[in-house]
Amino acid sequence: MLSTELYQVPDTGKAVIQALDNEGWNEKSISVDVLRLDKIHPIISGNKWFKLRHYLQQAKQQQKKGILTFGGAWSNHLVAAAYAAKQAGLAAIGIVRGERPAELYASLQDVIRYDMQLQFVPRADFANASALMQKLHNQYPEYIIIPQGGQGETGVEGAAEIAELVPHQQYSHIACAVGTGTMMAGLVKASAPGQQVIGISSLKISSVDNEIEQFIQQYSHTNNYSLLYDFHFGGYARYTPPLLHFMNTLYTQQQLPTDFVYTGKLMYAIMQLIENNYFPPGSRLLVIHSGGLQGNRSLPKGSLVF
Ligand SMILES: *Cc1c(COP(=O)(O)O)cnc(C)c1O
Repeated sequence: MLSTELYQVPDTGKAVIQALDNEGWNEKSISVDVLRLDKIHPIISGNKWFKLRHYLQQAKQQQKKGILTFGGAWSNHLVAAAYAAKQAGLAAIGIVRGERPAELYASLQDVIRYDMQLQFVPRADFANASALMQKLHNQYPEYIIIPQGGQGETGVEGAAEIAELVPHQQYSHIACAVGTGTMMAGLVKASAPGQQVIGISSLKISSVDNEIEQFIQQYSHTNNYSLLYDFHFGGYARYTPPLLHFMNTLYTQQQLPTDFVYTGKLMYAIMQLIENNYFPPGSRLLVIHSGGLQGNRSLPKGSLVF
């Protein structure tokens, strides 16, 4: 990116609430509002800003040189972290899982343009996250280390602030996509006892003993949350033609763009759950559109109508 180009802070005031329109839902007395966090910034996608911003503040306050964080080759988190660090005047190091590809994906080309320094680390080293973190901590004492996906106290704290954008007491259910579960943990933390928080896992994982649920549990006082595992469409970042068809229809009918990794699966799940009478009559749903639209760039051209 050229040095003259302006790096801008996301504008959370742009996170409008969009009411979705559906006759069938009216008959069931169910309403669905979408919180459009995708609108706050074109690059720092939705929830990433909330999860990152307190880490950036910490780096500034502690007069660190920069931030160091982790991601895969198509990571929204890395792109957002690289841009946000640049904007804040901080250096950034990105630890990327796997071998360096012969040609860098568009997302990694972006992070390099935002001056993030990349290091490729074998997948096996990622398996032992705490050892890797300790090693990097020793190697880069001048950097604040942000866990993958911002998954830590500071990230949850930031994610909880998403709830401040809406008069959330009026919703019976709050639904979001789940990767590391950091955003969901924040929403659970900020929820009122009578509210249910529903998370749709974008990973193909089992409901038994998974670390994501254990992580979220720490932030729940009343167990008012459910993680659902049946909407991964084959696994993380996998998709099927029906999912893309659904996303195109949703866009055409409701002018709601979604991504195939997170929010497309989330919206599909919500509609399926309403269809199956999962929500009692009178339910008022708030669905968090967490951004991530750049992820669609990895789809073959022409897959989507938006
Ligand atoms: C990263 C991301 C998520 C996952 O958030 P977690 O806090 O890791 O669960 C969800 N939606 C979008 C669009 C994302 O980019």
